[in-house]
Amino acid sequence: MKVTILGSGDAFGSGGRFNTCLRIEAGGERLLLDCGSSSMVALNQAGVARNGLSTLLFTHFHGDHFGGLAAFLVEAQFVSRRSEPLTIAGPIGVEHRARHALETDFPGASTNRWRFPISYVEVTPEAPTELAGVAIEAFPMVHDERAGPCQGYRLTQDGKTFAFSGDTAWTPALIPLAAGADALLVECYTWDKVLANHLDYRTLTAHRGELATPRIILTHMGPDMLAHDEKLPEARAHDGMVLAL
Ligand SMILES: [Zn+2]
Ligand SMILES: [Zn+2]
Repeated sequence: MKVTILGSGDAFGSGGRFNTCLRIEAGGERLLLDCGSSSMVALNQAGVARNGLSTLLFTHFHGDHFGGLAAFLVEAQFVSRRSEPLTIAGPIGVEHRARHALETDFPGASTNRWRFPISYVEVTPEAPTELAGVAIEAFPMVHDERAGPCQGYRLTQDGKTFAFSGDTAWTPALIPLAAGADALLVECYTWDKVLANHLDYRTLTAHRGELATPRIILTHMGPDMLAHDEKLPEARAHDGMVLAL
């Protein structure tokens, strides 16, 4: 499995980073995990062919993770002229949220006659599933239920597991999310300021021993976290970073 971090930024593009967007290549298929407001720019800058992506999977419905969906669909219709089926997957309510985002961003677009079949898949912690040839397990995260349910995911293919927290404060659900994963990409918004809906580095290190994974990569860093450039045992994500699992 190959994971390309196309966007490693927070909601506001701190440090000039793109919003959250990960390309997962597994077997012959390609999946996009989150597609934030700036992700179309990130996809174009990285030269990612949209028609090669079979599935979009979302962690939650904040703009920096979900806000690129409407432009992705409209671009697929009129520019990339997609004909291949597209699966849009995410927490409960994903279809309603997608239609609402489409109508908000491009009024009238929610009634488009799409050139390509769209199918919606709700992914829940109770029901592991498979998308684009990848086994998907969802874990409930603690972030902002107004934009949720908020979920982290384990993606497993060919014996390799990639875990991604999405946005969350510390929650014991991060322990099974990380357990045995080849790599954990985890949000780390602040250095030591404890917030109700995001993780800080001090809290993460206090729980480091509970995260049974050999490789932790920090992402979604805000200004305060980015200001700390000292060497850390964990890697820091950057736009364009590739994780080969
Ligand atoms: Zn976010
Ligand atoms: Zn969020």
